[in-house]
Amino acid sequence: MDSVGVSAAAPDAGPGPAWQSKCPWGAPSTTSISCSLADVMSEQLAKELQLEEENAVFPEAVAVAEGPFITGENIDTSSDLMLAQMLQMEFDREYDAQLRREEKKINGDSKVSISFENYRKVHPYDSDSSEDEVDWQDTRHDPYRADKPTTTPRRGFIGKGKDITTKHDEVVCGRKNTARMENFAPEFQVGDGIGMDLKLSNQVFNALKQHAYSEERRSARLHEKKEHSTAEKAVDPKTRLLLYKMVNSGMLETITGCISTGKESVVFHAYGGNTTEDKVIPPECAIKVFKTTLNEFKNRDKYIKDDYRFKDRFSKLNPRKIIRMWAEKEMHNLTRMQNAGIPCPQVVILKKHVLVMSFIGQDQVPAPKLKDVTLSSEDMKKAYYQILNMMQQLYKECNLVHADLSEYNMLWHDGKVWLIDVSQSVEPTHPHGLEFLFRDCRNVSQFFQKGGVTEALNERELFNAVSGLNITADNEVDFQAEIEALEKMNEDHVQNHGKKLSTFSSDGDPPIYDE
Ligand code: ADP
Ligand code: MN
Repeated sequence: MDSVGVSAAAPDAGPGPAWQSKCPWGAPSTTSISCSLADVMSEQLAKELQLEEENAVFPEAVAVAEGPFITGENIDTSSDLMLAQMLQMEFDREYDAQLRREEKKINGDSKVSISFENYRKVHPYDSDSSEDEVDWQDTRHDPYRADKPTTTPRRGFIGKGKDITTKHDEVVCGRKNTARMENFAPEFQVGDGIGMDLKLSNQVFNALKQHAYSEERRSARLHEKKEHSTAEKAVDPKTRLLLYKMVNSGMLETITGCISTGKESVVFHAYGGNTTEDKVIPPECAIKVFKTTLNEFKNRDKYIKDDYRFKDRFSKLNPRKIIRMWAEKEMHNLTRMQNAGIPCPQVVILKKHVLVMSFIGQDQVPAPKLKDVTLSSEDMKKAYYQILNMMQQLYKECNLVHADLSEYNMLWHDGKVWLIDVSQSVEPTHPHGLEFLFRDCRNVSQFFQKGGVTEALNERELFNAVSGLNITADNEVDFQAEIEALEKMNEDHVQNHGKKLSTFSSDGDPPIYDE
């Protein structure tokens, strides 16, 4: 439809058909035929027009082309032009036959077929190409190859009479399907079929579409994972950049490796870098990277949501910032403990969700957790009293409850116990603060009682010893009920007076207010 299309746009300047212009003897002048765009879409009309055009220019050649090619009869060989054109056609015919063989070889029985029509030289009305439904003109203007797609008109078909082509036409459909592949995600490899006259059956197209969509979703998930998670041992690119900057600035010498991968954090060991005027860098550091995936933090809301220190901010924060708040919380809590003289890591620096602190251990070997060391009974007893003391200090001097205290978060180093992992620590007046304390007491008490420390207080005695409260219930259920009653009393007070109690009192005395 090349010539028709062009002459439709510029009726007077239309060159001859493409094959003609390829003819080494130049193109004879042609009579241009103009038609409407709708007609251009009509294959049938195109065929007719083409035929008319050719008949007008060199009727003999067409006549020959329609019959057996060279029979030696009825051929007017008087015209040089005629002979030349016939030779050219014969040449082209051979070329096309070769093309068809290749096409067949490539396509085989495949449902996806590739057409070489575009590259053919001879007009397809010659007898040999009659088995092909599609002619080269049509494919040249295939709307689904071109930038400007053309659709089947509203009425759903094109053409007239028995030559109607509907939108269900196999060829039209196949091409549309191919064109639609362009809508697949850019990273989805569709090959270069879009640029060819590739016809995809609906079945194949639908299968491909399904695959493309599921690939898209999968890649989105992968991307999400890569970008937003501090995966096992590895860190996401943003965190890597933060760590890189720390080394680059000279603050850290080297990051040697991973000490621990927990549910909520990954801890690395690093050798400290240069100590500056305003910053003392310990020789060995622990880098706690708070995981930026939220899943694990979901159930930790309660620690921070109800912590009045963070209350105002909590509701305004996005998840990423909430995670930074955990790191911030750990930093503040460690600083409070440091100030009270409790053995714990010293904060070096906080950058977003990355907390750098002093390393408890030596030569890259972290101090063992209390659960992993076998202490002499003497050390066990020593450790117990030290912890009792630390819990009291934590409560009274730091105004904190650890809230995750157990043999997992206590390290044995230098002949003493070190407290770590205080991101979830809360103040005792936290709505659940006393419950957390009671849980801590139960862990500690059970660990030392099992560990053979006969002096170890039971959880209720320990709770009273740490908090200074005097809850007299002699069984766990009542004890816990009293704890909850105290918490509620404090909450009610906050409701009514907009102010929390500074300390709890359980012996009927009027509560002490923090003025
Ligand atoms: P998590 O929330 O993952 O439990 P922790 O703060 O408990 O995070 O750290 C996990 C582990 O990393 C600890 O059990 C400990 O072995 C190691 N660790 C954490 N901080 C330090 C530190 N400052 N020095 C040495 N080891 C540490
Ligand atoms: Mn821990």
